Amino acid sequence: MSNKQKVNLAGLTLVGLKNLFSDLNEKPFRAAQVMKWIHQRGVTNIDFMSDISKDLRKRLFEVGEVRLPHVLNEFVSGDGSRKWIVEVASGSQVEMVYIPEGGRGTLCISSQAGCSLDCSFCATGKQGFDSNLSVAEIIGQLWWANKLLGNFDQSNPISISNVVMMGMGEPLLNFNNVIDSVNIMMEDAAYGLSKRKVTISTSGVVPAIKKMKGLTEVSIAVSLHAPNDKLRGQIMPINKRYSIAELLGSVKAYMGSLSDNRVPLIEYTLIKGVNDHRQHARDLAKLLVSFPCKINLIPFNTFESSNFERPSGSSITNFREILKKAGYTVTVRTTRADDISAACGQLVGGVTDRTQRSVRYKRKIDKSNESVKLVGKLATAAERI
Ligand code: SAH
Ligand code: SF4
Repeated sequence: MSNKQKVNLAGLTLVGLKNLFSDLNEKPFRAAQVMKWIHQRGVTNIDFMSDISKDLRKRLFEVGEVRLPHVLNEFVSGDGSRKWIVEVASGSQVEMVYIPEGGRGTLCISSQAGCSLDCSFCATGKQGFDSNLSVAEIIGQLWWANKLLGNFDQSNPISISNVVMMGMGEPLLNFNNVIDSVNIMMEDAAYGLSKRKVTISTSGVVPAIKKMKGLTEVSIAVSLHAPNDKLRGQIMPINKRYSIAELLGSVKAYMGSLSDNRVPLIEYTLIKGVNDHRQHARDLAKLLVSFPCKINLIPFNTFESSNFERPSGSSITNFREILKKAGYTVTVRTTRADDISAACGQLVGGVTDRTQRSVRYKRKIDKSNESVKLVGKLATAAERI
């Protein structure tokens, strides 16, 4: 059997591994053993899986292997955050970011190379779209972060307590692979992360949110960014397909399907002169009055050639105070790692665009006489370290 036909063991859920062992006429508990070797001990060589008999290892090797994406580069921010560039099978490069906070930390990972949705304030969207990441490429980011942070060999362990799907791409447009990946993250035999600490952030793919019920218990964050359909439709094209009412309805139903009491996070990127007026805050408070949630304000992070700006500190505070007075739990996301272009919305990787969007965007930039190449951004970041 050629390598290409072998099953990638790194991309299988516990159920997937159990099925594989059932096909090999083996007991289901083998699945958890293999999962622990790969995801808890960082072992990729089947021969090293010493609690599995030599004969079974040989049979497993005939049908399966562990294939992970390649990490091409690492950038370290002055604030201790790290960004890694990961090459996926399509040839594109995606980015993931580790943000330490005290003794714990958050890993922000990508689900797609590029994004097809083109929100007007997002650098990823400007790259166009190349491909969906496979399960092994998504979970492989968490695997690599653990490896590079010394967690597998306990050399210098730095905990990853939270994983957020807030990197490149719209997770729910890569539905099956993302659901399998988050389920592996929460699986005790793999990373064992709490379901409260694994979060899918979505721009609002309503049919996919409806489909999540019963398939996963992952937490959800909703990129709202506007208090009414008119404004949201102007900055997020997806709102033309699914209205705010449909979006909030689907999220509420998903939350109701969970076995514990949790509320979703509403993300609201504050953009100067676009959605940061006091009236927007008042309208947002009204909109969410019967929608239990927490609100996270994200001051806009700039990227080359973006037309938008971050509001002043006082506008951000005013916006937050209006929501707080209305009774909401509100946090303002602190900007991390923007010295390595790793803050929210700044991730670009190197995407082989299969749409014409990056070309059109580049033309627009060229026209305005700014000779900026978005992929050149990586080189710029490299010069800084
Ligand atoms: N595609 C998903 C997840 C990736 S983006 C989504 O849209 O939810 C993670 C968060 O960063 C989203 O809330 C997104 O809207 C926000 N974001 C995108 N570009 C940004 C920018 N330039 N500044 C601040 N936040 C941004
Ligand atoms: Fe895609 Fe999210 Fe960026 Fe919108 S904000 S373009 S959905 S990655």
